Amino acid sequence: MSKVDKDTSPEAAQQDIVRLKLSQSPVPDIELQGLPVFAPGWVWLAGAGPGDPGLLTLHAVNALKQADKVVYDALVSEDILSLVKPEAELLYAGKRGGKPSWNQQDITDKLIELAGQGHRVLRLKGGDPFVFGRGGEEAQALVAAQVPFRVIPGISAGVGGLGYAGIPVTHRDVNHAVTFVTGHLAGKHENELLDWHAIAKASPVIVIYMAMSRLAVIADLLMAAGRAGDEPVAIVTHATTPNQRVVTGRLAEAAQMAKQHRLEPPSIIVIGGVVDLASTLAWFGSLESAD
Ligand code: SAH
Repeated sequence: MSKVDKDTSPEAAQQDIVRLKLSQSPVPDIELQGLPVFAPGWVWLAGAGPGDPGLLTLHAVNALKQADKVVYDALVSEDILSLVKPEAELLYAGKRGGKPSWNQQDITDKLIELAGQGHRVLRLKGGDPFVFGRGGEEAQALVAAQVPFRVIPGISAGVGGLGYAGIPVTHRDVNHAVTFVTGHLAGKHENELLDWHAIAKASPVIVIYMAMSRLAVIADLLMAAGRAGDEPVAIVTHATTPNQRVVTGRLAEAAQMAKQHRLEPPSIIVIGGVVDLASTLAWFGSLESAD
C-alpha cells in the first residue's frame, strides 16, 4: 500500500477540524445491533461529553433519537440537542443568570413526573453524568420513586477536554496517578471536604473542575503544601468546541493568567508535568503561553 503524503501545514490542520452540520453529515445513519429500545416511563441519565458532538457515545445518540422529553443542562450544545426527533420537547434545567432556575429537587421531581406520565425521559448532562454532575443524586431519587433508569456514561471534560488540548492525563515518564477534584469550595468553606495538603503530596497531576473563581486560593493551598510555584499549569476553556482556548503558565501565576487572558468558565485546570506535553501534542485550535 502506498503511503499518502499528508499536508502538515497549519491551514491543513485547521481544515481537519472544520465542522459539518450534523444534518449534512456524509456518514449514513449507523444501524447497530444491540442498542437498546427506550421504553416509555423510563429515565435515561446520559452524558453529552464536553461539547464536540462527535464525542457523544452511540448510546447517547440512540437516546436523543428516541426521547420524548429531554431535560438538559447549560453545557449541552444546540448541535447536540438538534439530534432529537421533531416532536420531542426540550426542557432547560440549567442555571439562568439572575432568573429563577430549577433546583435539584425541581429537577428530580420533573424527571419522576414525566416518567410517571409515560414519557421516555432523557436527562442530559455535560461530560459524564457521574463526574461532578449530581447524576448519582438523581439516580437515587429515581430508585426511591421506583422509576426504571439506565446510565449512559459520557466523556468527562477532565479527560476528553484535556485530550483536545494535547494533554494526556497520565504519561508514563511523568505520572502514575491523577486526581480529579472540584475547586468549587476550595479554602475555608465549611463544606470543603478536600484535604488539599494530601492531594498536593500524593498526586503529581491534579485536574480541577469548577475552579475559575477559586484559582488563587487553590494555588496558595498547593504551594503551602509544597508544590513549586513554577510548576506548569494549563487552563483549557470551552474545551473541544470551536471556542476552545488553552493557556499554559506557572502555578504561582495561575489566577493572574486567567484574568489577563480573560479566561472564563467552563474551564478545566490541570497542574503538573503533563502540561509540558501540550507544546508538542496540541492539535486542536491554538495554544497560548503566559510565560
Ligand atoms: N459532568 C461534567 C462536569 C460538570 S461540572 C463532566 O464530566 O465533564 C462543570 C465543570 O466541568 C465546569 O466548571 C468545568 O470545570 C468543566 N467543564 C465542562 N465542560 C467543559 C468544557 N467544554 N471545557 C472546559 N471545562 C469544562
